[in-house]
Amino acid sequence: MSEHAPDITLREQMTPFESVNHYVERAAEHAGIHESVRQRIRMAASELRVEVPVRRDSGEVATYAGYRVQHNSARGPYKGGIRFHPEADIDEVRALASLMTWKTAVIEVPFGGAKGGVQVDASSLSDIEKERLTRAYTRAISSIIGDHRDIPAPDMNTDAQTMAWLADEYANLEGWTPGVVTGKPVPLGGSLGRESATGRGCVVVMEEAIRADEVEPHDVTIAIQGFGNVGSWAARLAHERGYRVTAVGDQHGTLWCEDGLDIDALVRHHGEHGSIDGFEEDADRVELRDAGFVLEAPVHVLVPAAIGGVVHADNVADVKCSLIVEGANHPVTPWADRQLAERDITVIPDILANAGGVLTSYFEWVQNLQQMHWHEGDVLDRLDRGMVAGYWRVRDVAEREGLTLREAAYLIAVGKVCEATSLRSVG
Ligand code: GLU
Repeated sequence: MSEHAPDITLREQMTPFESVNHYVERAAEHAGIHESVRQRIRMAASELRVEVPVRRDSGEVATYAGYRVQHNSARGPYKGGIRFHPEADIDEVRALASLMTWKTAVIEVPFGGAKGGVQVDASSLSDIEKERLTRAYTRAISSIIGDHRDIPAPDMNTDAQTMAWLADEYANLEGWTPGVVTGKPVPLGGSLGRESATGRGCVVVMEEAIRADEVEPHDVTIAIQGFGNVGSWAARLAHERGYRVTAVGDQHGTLWCEDGLDIDALVRHHGEHGSIDGFEEDADRVELRDAGFVLEAPVHVLVPAAIGGVVHADNVADVKCSLIVEGANHPVTPWADRQLAERDITVIPDILANAGGVLTSYFEWVQNLQQMHWHEGDVLDRLDRGMVAGYWRVRDVAEREGLTLREAAYLIAVGKVCEATSLRSVG
């Protein structure tokens, strides 16, 4: 073990990076990967910490800690989102960068893994402050990103507008380079279908997982935690396909409706109020329960699409669904994951379930390099086919090797990254 290797034996409490490495190590063990290669995939290749000073509207300057962690580039340029979140500390960003390495490998896009974060409460910033923050952060990391080097994208509390500011700031330094960032607005070279891609991918893999049950969509109930980009699009598309979304929760509470929530109305409410809070006041038969209820709701499918570590040792026993689709990154702790497996609750892991975002980022990047615009139908077809193929790749290995879907996904991903590492004999 290298000197800085974290303790990755299964424990009730593990940091996000320890948790990801726990799965990586088990997969490497299973695949018989040599220790010298294992060391390379455990740690990030490079970690940049930057100070991000922002002039607040009050005139004062506030400084935030920012990171860009480049985990692995054996299979292609570094790739991964940027989040603005108070909990985006170095351990969290490392974990998310590592997850990107495995995600891009599972879904077979020619990228490595990276992640960026600024430790800031985005809700405390005005739009102009957010723009200044994005531009300052972009300048600070500009020397390590590039369209064949490291390609950022949106993540929590960042969106197409944030990526437009990033692209513009980068253009000031290097000239207009659309392929340096994905998740851009469509008029700036963004891809049709990118905004909804992660949520759509979640629904596609959920449908594959329940296909054999031959149930009518209306008889399938779904609980969704989080109503940001991933949660709201998963809710919209599931609702559109006739599934019954009976619970939607965020930090304020859980909306519960046995007949299925009117998702179109909820999307409108969220658009107007910036939150799901208060929806129950004008909606028929909708009850407001506490925030934790969404994870324990009596439903078939749970889609945690908010933050990491929400299903843990203390609440896993209360989970009642039979299928979890991880829209968020690392929403289930390894300890809870073990309990779920023992109870035969299927988990479609983050590195597969939410890979629709980076898959469509890849399509955007290809379009940028070719100076082309694909039709929306072409993008969605490729996204659906990629997710279905990814699901069955993982499912087949799981069945053949007697593994959970998460173990199988890591086995595939670790195998591909180690193979590329050995072929390049990097270093
Ligand atoms: N932030 C998203 C993720 O966690 C998308 C990353 C990307 O498109 O590069 O997968």
